[in-house]
Amino acid sequence: MNDVVYFDNAATTRVRNEVVEAMTKYFSESYGNPSSVYKIAQTNKNAVEKGREQVAKAINAEKNEIYFTAGGSEADNWAIKGIAESYLDKGKHIITLSIEHHAVLHTCEYLESKGFEVTYLPVDKFGIVELEKIKNAIRKDTILISVMFANNEIGSIQPIKEIGALAKEKGIIFHTDAVQAVGHIPIDVKEMNIDLLSMSAHKFYGPKGIGALYIKKGIKIKPLIHGGAQERNRRAGTENVPGIVGMGVAIELITNELDKEAKRLSFLRDKLIDSILSDIPHSRLNGDRKNRLPGNVNISFEFIEGESILLMLDMKGICASSGSACTSGSLDPSHVLLAIGLPHEKAHGSLRLTLGMFNTEEEVDYIIKELPSIVKRLRDMSPLYEDFVKNKQIVTE
Ligand SMILES: *Cc1c(COP(=O)(O)O)cnc(C)c1O
Repeated sequence: MNDVVYFDNAATTRVRNEVVEAMTKYFSESYGNPSSVYKIAQTNKNAVEKGREQVAKAINAEKNEIYFTAGGSEADNWAIKGIAESYLDKGKHIITLSIEHHAVLHTCEYLESKGFEVTYLPVDKFGIVELEKIKNAIRKDTILISVMFANNEIGSIQPIKEIGALAKEKGIIFHTDAVQAVGHIPIDVKEMNIDLLSMSAHKFYGPKGIGALYIKKGIKIKPLIHGGAQERNRRAGTENVPGIVGMGVAIELITNELDKEAKRLSFLRDKLIDSILSDIPHSRLNGDRKNRLPGNVNISFEFIEGESILLMLDMKGICASSGSACTSGSLDPSHVLLAIGLPHEKAHGSLRLTLGMFNTEEEVDYIIKELPSIVKRLRDMSPLYEDFVKNKQIVTE
């Protein structure tokens, strides 16, 4: 077993060896700027175009519909701000979900401060939006629907194909933050009628700081980053050649293994969920049992704090998360767990375990063995649990 048991693949993933190998050359031997004329530059231009082709193929897009960015957050910012600015003549209304990643939510809040109106739709108790709610929110001045493909905290997968069909029928642009979905579940931008899609390489065993925005041919969008003529005048800045090469290799490899790996992870995920729920009393699964990312486990334990579980797991060499990495460090409970109806105290006691390609069944068995005693020890110290036990005794006496 690895020294570190890493169950935080939704926060980031380890870069696979084939990717590191493919990238190395572009830091040293082949360092030219793809815009220059000499050979090492032209080699790099070709490498960038190959990466673009690999990314396009993975989501069934055309090569010239892929634009590289510095990650998922930039892609989300660009999609939303860029569309908002380009379709001012049509309206200023945007529809999104209350459980989006902060890269979408904070961008929408920024636009609200600039005079746009945003509808943040609620989700059901499993974290899924009802199509009817989107339908009813659409107005004459709605310019954009932005709905995440899969949630980073509870793993719930939205009905993207149905939303795409609805947006198309109503003539509204449809963006999806697919950062958690790409490389984990099948995506076809044509079949799903997606106009814009955000992705990020470090969530599928590629390097950090590189991502892409898919922009369907014919969609008008203002640039976010101004400067040189890179990315066909839409995204300035010298190309991150090693990053693009790494992203291309990572997406091609994982796409070829997608079905097999999703099956393997779903099996481990279900084993983990079933064991925890049966071994540990007063625990509940957050998110949808079926429409769920293959590697996502999110469980609330009553009477204790997720942060304390993380510290005890860390002592056992296990890396996990108590919500989204972006919110840890703040004491507010996760906006996603509140949105699916959890009261504050239950939201605080939540644990997210996200599995990836480097995890083994042995590691899953290890946490299944360790977790019950950790939860028990924390409950033995918890005044909330003490009260609960006392009250129960009174009731049964
Ligand atoms: C990680 C993540 C992002 C941000 O991507 P970065 O590449 O880290 O900027 C956006 N949305 C979701 C759903 C994510 O999981």
